[in-house]
Amino acid sequence: MYNKVTEEVIVALETALGKEHVKYDAEVLEKYKTDEETDAHYHHLPEVVVWPGSTAEVAEVMKIANKFLVPVTPRSAGTSVSCGAIAVCGGIVLLLERLDKIIEFNEEAMYMVVEAGARTSVIQELASEKGLLYAGDPCSSDSCLIGGNIATNAGGNKAVRYGTTRDQVYKIEVVTPQGEVVELGGRLKKNSTGYCLEQLIMGSEGTLGIITKATLKLLPLAPHKLDILAIFTDLNKAVTLVPNLIKAGLNPTSVEFMDNNFVRASSDYCELKLPHYDDGCYIIVTVETFNEDELEEKMGELDEICTESGAVEVLEADDRVWRIRRNCLEATRAISLIGATDDLVVPVDQIANCINHLTAVAEEKNYKFKLFTLAHAGDGNLHFQILKGEMTDEEWENQVNEFHSIAYPYVYSLGGRLSGEHGIGAKKLPAMEKYTNAVELKIMKDIKKALDPNNILNPGKVFNV
Ligand SMILES: Cc1cc2nc3c(=O)[nH]c(=O)nc-3n(C[C@H](O)[C@H](O)[C@H](O)COP(=O)(O)OP(=O)(O)OC[C@H]3O[C@@H](n4cnc5c(N)ncnc54)[C@H](O)[C@@H]3O)c2cc1C
Repeated sequence: MYNKVTEEVIVALETALGKEHVKYDAEVLEKYKTDEETDAHYHHLPEVVVWPGSTAEVAEVMKIANKFLVPVTPRSAGTSVSCGAIAVCGGIVLLLERLDKIIEFNEEAMYMVVEAGARTSVIQELASEKGLLYAGDPCSSDSCLIGGNIATNAGGNKAVRYGTTRDQVYKIEVVTPQGEVVELGGRLKKNSTGYCLEQLIMGSEGTLGIITKATLKLLPLAPHKLDILAIFTDLNKAVTLVPNLIKAGLNPTSVEFMDNNFVRASSDYCELKLPHYDDGCYIIVTVETFNEDELEEKMGELDEICTESGAVEVLEADDRVWRIRRNCLEATRAISLIGATDDLVVPVDQIANCINHLTAVAEEKNYKFKLFTLAHAGDGNLHFQILKGEMTDEEWENQVNEFHSIAYPYVYSLGGRLSGEHGIGAKKLPAMEKYTNAVELKIMKDIKKALDPNNILNPGKVFNV
C-alpha cells in the first residue's frame, strides 16, 4: 500500500530540510530499527531518518510523505516500551530532538511554553529552580522528551496526586497527518467550546498528529516532603495498604509497589541492600505539604495505617529506595533481555484483587517464565514484567500468550484496560483489536481515517485501519 523511499523522495526531503538533516546510510538506519524493544522479532529498519528543525519543516515532511505515499513514524527519545517508535511499515522516521527550545517561562501566571523535543527532566528542573512544579514524572524523565510524554499520555510516580501528562497541558501545537498546522486547547481553566481536540491528540501515540509545541501547567512546589518505605512480608497485606491509604484521605504524591522479585533484582543491580531484601515487598509512599505541622501529622497517620495494614517495618526512605525503584526495568534486563512488559490498569480498589489473582494463576499454571510485579499502585496501574529465562522460543510464545489470554479478559471484567501509561504501540495492537468494544474501535478507526486518509502517520500502531 505504500511506496518505497526513492531518490525523488530523498531529494524532496533534502530540499525541505537541508542535506545534513536527511540520513539513509546503513549505520543510521540500524540505530533507529528499534526503541526500548530488545526482541529482534519486533525490529524494523526505516528507509530514511529526518531531523526537521521547525514546525514548518515537520509540516513539509508530512506533505512530501502524502505526495509520495510513504509512511512517517514520529520519534522523540525512543524510550517506548510498546514498540511505539518503531517504523513497522518502513518509510521515514521523523525525529523531534532538534525542536528543543524552552520558548517562554512565565513565573507569575505559572506556565511554560516548550518545543516538543525539550527533555522532561530539563522542564522539571527549570520549574523547580523557580519554586514551581511540573508534575509530569515518568521514571524515564532523564531521557524521554515532552512530545513523547504527551503523545503517550505518560504517567509515572506522581500521577496518583496530579494525574497523567494530559492533566499538565494547557495547549498543544500540532502538525496534522496532511501537513497543516493547528493550535489546540488554551490557557484556560475551563472550556466548553466544541470538541476537546487537544485531549484527542494527547495519548493518540502519534497516529493523529505530530506535537511540535506545548504550553505546560506549573504548580506551586510543596516545600515539605517525606518518603516512607513500608515493608511487608505478606503480599496480601501489602496490597491492602493502598485502599486504606486512599480512604484515609492522605492525598499522597506517590504510592509505588515492588514485589520481592523486583526488590532483589533491582537491589542487586544497584548494589544496595535494604532491610528484608530476601523476603520483603516494598511500598514507597510520598507525602508533600505546604505546612510542616501538617506533614508531621500526616506522617504519624501514615505510620499507623502501614502498621495496621501489616507492615513489618516502616522506615523513612532516602534516595537509595528511589534508586531501587527507578532501576527496576534495567535490572530485569540484566536478568533476561527477552521479556514482556504489561501495563494493565484497573480501578484502584481492584489492584489488590488483580495482583493476587494473576500471581496465583501464574503459580497454578507452573509457567517456566519469571513473573515480576511492579505497580503505580495508587493509580491502579500494574506492570507485570515477564522474563523468558530458560525455555524455548515456542514455549515462551505459548506460555505468554496463554497467560495474556487469561489476564486480559480478567482485567476487562474488573473494568480495567490494556494500558495505563505505556500505550498500545505495535506490540499490543492484536490485543487492542481483540479486547476493545467493537463500536468503540470503529469510532477510533473512523477518526483516524478522517484525519489521515492515506494512513501515512504512524501506521501499524494502536489498531490497523
Ligand atoms: C526505564 C523506563 C522507565 C519508564 N517509566 C515510565 C513511567 O513511569 N511512566 C510512563 O508513562 N512511561 C514510562 N516509560 C515509557 C516511556 O518512557 C514513555 O512512554 C515516554 O512517554 C516516551 O517518551 P519518548 O520521548 O521516549 O517517546 P518515543 O518513545 O520516541 O515515542 C513514543 C510514542 O509517541 C510517538 N511520538 C513521539 N514524539 C511525538 C510527537 N512529538 N508527536 C506525536 N507523536 C510522538 C511515537 O511515534 C511513539 O508512538 C518508561 C520507559 C523506560 C525505558
